Amino acid sequence: MSGPRVKTCAACARGIAPSEVYYRFTLILEGEQDVLGPSGAGATQDDLATILKQLEQGDESAQELEDQVHWERSGVVCSACRSVVVRTLSAPPEAAGPH
Ligand SMILES: [Zn+2]
Repeated sequence: MSGPRVKTCAACARGIAPSEVYYRFTLILEGEQDVLGPSGAGATQDDLATILKQLEQGDESAQELEDQVHWERSGVVCSACRSVVVRTLSAPPEAAGPH
């Protein structure tokens, strides 16, 4: 007879008590690129094509490169971290609009 397992916030690692409200999330970050950067001058750029090429060559840091193409995490966050995430993702920069 064990009660609900104490959850841990994926963002701040704080323990979330069973009586606390928590927020379940699934985050998928997929690398995309609409236009390739200028070749040569911008050699330091992380072009998606470059990443994929490195992946094909079986680079040692393949896992890291793979994460740049597709990164997926799911878990729960506490209410404090939820507000940070919501604020970060729902407030586009003012300059982004065409008006
Ligand atoms: Zn948290």
